[in-house]
Amino acid sequence: MEKQTQVFIVGAGLAGSLIGIYLARRGYAVDIFESRPDMRSTDIQAGRSINLALSNRGIRALKKVGIDQQVLDKAVPMLGRMLHDQAGNLKFAPYGRDKTEYINSISRGELNKLLMTEAEKHKNVKLHFNQRCVDIDLHQARITLENQTGSQRTTPKADFIIGADGVNSAVRRAIVTQNASQTGDSTTVAYSRVEWLEHGYKELTIRPATGKNKFRMDKQSLHIWPRGTYMLIALPNFDGSFTCTLFFPMKGEISFEGLNRPEKIRAFFEREFRDTLPLIDNLEKEFAENPVGKLGTLRCAPWHYKNKAVLIGDAAHAIVPFYGQGMNASFEDCIYLDQCIEKHAPDWEEVFKNYEQLRYDNGQAIADLAVENFYEMRDHVANPIFRKKRTLEQLLEKKYEDYHSKYSLVTFHPEFSYSKAKELGNKQDALLMELCGALENIHTVNIEQTYQKLKALN
Ligand code: FAD
Repeated sequence: MEKQTQVFIVGAGLAGSLIGIYLARRGYAVDIFESRPDMRSTDIQAGRSINLALSNRGIRALKKVGIDQQVLDKAVPMLGRMLHDQAGNLKFAPYGRDKTEYINSISRGELNKLLMTEAEKHKNVKLHFNQRCVDIDLHQARITLENQTGSQRTTPKADFIIGADGVNSAVRRAIVTQNASQTGDSTTVAYSRVEWLEHGYKELTIRPATGKNKFRMDKQSLHIWPRGTYMLIALPNFDGSFTCTLFFPMKGEISFEGLNRPEKIRAFFEREFRDTLPLIDNLEKEFAENPVGKLGTLRCAPWHYKNKAVLIGDAAHAIVPFYGQGMNASFEDCIYLDQCIEKHAPDWEEVFKNYEQLRYDNGQAIADLAVENFYEMRDHVANPIFRKKRTLEQLLEKKYEDYHSKYSLVTFHPEFSYSKAKELGNKQDALLMELCGALENIHTVNIEQTYQKLKALN
């Protein structure tokens, strides 16, 4: 009988659990090693950001293994952005051409638990918790695992390893080090670096109301308070609460460092985000106690080592969260890796090489788009030319089925790769911004002529 291929996945986060399901369906023996305790039985934080925006690329990856509906049942649909100005006035801007195009707010913890449970339903998948991967022998596909207290070490061996261990990936470190130290292959350039933003983030909570309507703001919106060099956003949770995230400079006068006393925090919120004050119960306490997260873009290569190891998700392409695509891109990796397995297995080196070729440029593209969107959300959303452009995009999307704005290409149209969405979307944006800069009234625009110009960019 042919020996069953043994796969180790390092990390039972979002990408690790999902790729576990894909591989289990192909009949491989899958062991997933997670450094943290089992979050289904231990009360631990699921990691960064409490909730996430799930959109079509991610949904498509879940659908391929038949769990999209279960996940969506736990999500709150967000139909558009609700902009809050300093005076508390609201303006709603839909995300898509109609009510069928929306994104979904989902709890990171609930989603991760669901994925683990789905993975474990397969007899050939085993999850191991409190097992930190501390060392990797790539030649042998052998990993060294340490238990929670560091008192016990084991060194199991697989046929190959998937690194789904997030931004600080141990598997990536091993792959990059190994490739860098290889001699005689001048074509292999190995590198890994993080490009940090000057901004970090802090989460704050709006608790649910006690009455019939649990939501204290519109529940079908992603709320944004754009304020030039910083912004606050809030995503709804299933229980009626909202998780707010303040994206804010790390250093300087107006910064996390600068807002260091309760009275300064309150005065700042009174000035900038006045309408949130009746909603955030323990502002000063939460602000003082909640951690500041760093935001960066990981660039690294290569993503695989021979037929022994490959990276997926944040381990390969951690990005800043401003397009809401990190998890979606990680889930999309699973589709592509699975397709490469279908085509090339058991030639694992060919599988990993092809997967990297298909995904590397797309990883760079979504990383760039995410940084660009930071500036767009922060500055442009409150800028009149940008607002005109958004109105024009909506007119175009309503009238022409085959026109998609950049946001729509990235968020709702996985048939366009991230690279294509970036290239086409940026050309469209440049053309529309120029047009809107010269327009007094958006309704005077020749819409058919604009559409034809946009089509010519394809
Ligand atoms: P992770 O979720 O980081 O999982 C890695 C797992 O590996 C963890 O469980 C970790 O404990 C484990 N691990 C790490 N090291 C080891 C080791 N040595 N041994 C064993 N296990 C290990 N994405 C979206 O699509 N939409 C959003 O709205 C969105 N919002 C975000 C908001 C913020 C503030 C941030 C920071 C990110 C956001 N993201 C969003 C991005 C998203 O969180 C990530 O892209 C996603 O979590 C990547 O999944 P992953 O499984 O690759 O990594």
